[in-house]
Amino acid sequence: MDNYKTVCDKCGRKTWYKTEQQCHCSYFHGDVNVRCTGMLRVIDNSALDDRFTRFYDVGERVEVEWKDGFEDYTGYGYRTEGKKARFYVGKSTGWKPIYLQILRKNSSGGAALLSCAVKSIRGLGIYKN
Ligand SMILES: [Zn+2]
Repeated sequence: MDNYKTVCDKCGRKTWYKTEQQCHCSYFHGDVNVRCTGMLRVIDNSALDDRFTRFYDVGERVEVEWKDGFEDYTGYGYRTEGKKARFYVGKSTGWKPIYLQILRKNSSGGAALLSCAVKSIRGLGIYKN
């Protein structure tokens, strides 16, 4: 689990600084060293759904059951009539992170996980490979 306190809203670098301030990093643009003009924003974890934290921390795949009305009939969950979905738990990288549904372990991104649609969560175990 990362415990970074702030994240730059321009370059995305995470830091241990605890307060909002000018980003300290710089990078080469061609052969000119340019200072990042972003702000370090305090990371606000209030939108993270605690129920998924332990699965995110260990990289365990989960199966969620959607609440009535939140079924998804678009094909992915057809074996469960749209009532369940299986995915890895990822996290968005902005200053107000949310958990994401990551379909494959090597996917680079995923869809937002809508907490209010989740009825129950079941861990599917960690595969050693
Ligand atoms: Zn920056």
